[in-house]
Amino acid sequence: MKSDVVIVGGGISGLSLAFYAARAGYKTTLLEKNERVGGSFNSHQCSTGKDAFWLEMGAHTCYNSYQNLLDIIEACSMKEDIIPRAKVPFVLLRDKELKSVFSSLNIVEALRSIPNMFSLKKDGLSVREYYSKIVGENNYNNTLSHFFNAVPSQPTDDFPADMMFKSRPKRKEVLKNYTFTNGLGSVAKAIARSKGINVFTGQEVTGIEKADGGYVIKTEAGMTCTASTLALAAPPQESSRLLQSIEADIARHLGMIGSAFVDSVGVMVRKEDIALKPVAAIISPDDIFFSAVSRDTVPHEQYRGFAFHFRPGENEESKIRRITEVLGVGMDKIAHRHDVINTVPSLRVGHRDWLEKIDSMLKGRNLLLTGNYFGGMAIEDCVSRSLSECGRIRKA
Ligand SMILES: Cc1cc2nc3c(=O)[nH]c(=O)nc-3n(C[C@H](O)[C@H](O)[C@H](O)COP(=O)(O)OP(=O)(O)OC[C@H]3O[C@@H](n4cnc5c(N)ncnc54)[C@H](O)[C@@H]3O)c2cc1C
Repeated sequence: MKSDVVIVGGGISGLSLAFYAARAGYKTTLLEKNERVGGSFNSHQCSTGKDAFWLEMGAHTCYNSYQNLLDIIEACSMKEDIIPRAKVPFVLLRDKELKSVFSSLNIVEALRSIPNMFSLKKDGLSVREYYSKIVGENNYNNTLSHFFNAVPSQPTDDFPADMMFKSRPKRKEVLKNYTFTNGLGSVAKAIARSKGINVFTGQEVTGIEKADGGYVIKTEAGMTCTASTLALAAPPQESSRLLQSIEADIARHLGMIGSAFVDSVGVMVRKEDIALKPVAAIISPDDIFFSAVSRDTVPHEQYRGFAFHFRPGENEESKIRRITEVLGVGMDKIAHRHDVINTVPSLRVGHRDWLEKIDSMLKGRNLLLTGNYFGGMAIEDCVSRSLSECGRIRKA
């Protein structure tokens, strides 16, 4: 199959790049190794029919500051499906008790530190360096750091502070934070259906060669595609591996980005079987899981659901034991279970230098790179990177 651009990876980075490329009139092919598109932007369907119940296994919230994503949502006629998230609290689990974040903070220390917000710049500082000055060292260590770790499901002390949370212009007419009637994954599916994109799932790319000024892309399942432009939208270590034989320098530079694996277990329970009060997420400091993100933000008549994001390497028995302990239900009350492993980058202070270097290496080449390891991990960061990379596509 011959295309102008072949995109490897069907998470939101690859899908948004495919959307922009098709809209610009390029013949676009997207290859995804899993049987479904979405990557970490996927809602798992636990049950269907009258009781249909979905659960977010990765991303769960979008914001009105996600302007590029909102443009795509509108173009895919998905704006009508935007729904608010119920206001339920994020809680800390301590000494077997759920506590609000506010009650866990030392207010005197917070009030003493907060004025630093007006003078301290995030640039060049780690999450620890910046936020321990904004809320106080003890508040950071005892409370806030656990919340930050829960965002990318890994220790974030050394993350660049300016890439963790960003302030962006907002679309005031859109809900501040929102999801979709059928979960965020419905957006991924809608993009994949949009005009001009050929999406092939179950196609793991295993080999890439250069030929005639373009690329030949081969999959494990036996598919061969050719394209004048190649776009890699897989995690950095995978993109590095795929480029090793054709772009050794770029592969080496990509290999410098560390990755963390998020081992997620989603469970669905009948409402009457669980006494836990509604929560947005449970964060349990120094536990075997970083967070348990709940579906209580979109209440369902019969069921409740929780996606536990575990530290890697936990065994099956300890995971299920911890899930049942935290939820206070017996194993027999788990009505459905789904497991998934997502990959997230481990960014470090100095990442902007890395970024400058990779962009200078890509200059003039018909190779595009997108993903959650450029401007930041948020959905909008992925879409924004794809938008800027689309400008470099060359026609076949
Ligand atoms: C638990 C969790 C919660 C999050 N919550 C939020 C949130 O609420 N809001 C927010 O904005 N962001 C959130 N994020 C971050 C955001 O979801 C991710 O950064 C983003 O979805 C990553 O998209 P991506 O396309 O870059 O990568 P991925 O989603 O990882 O997609 C990469 C794709 O490439 C495919 N692939 C890999 N190798 C190959 C190959 N050889 N051939 C073909 N395909 C391949 C993979 O199967 C995958 O589908 C969350 C992330 C996680 C993990």
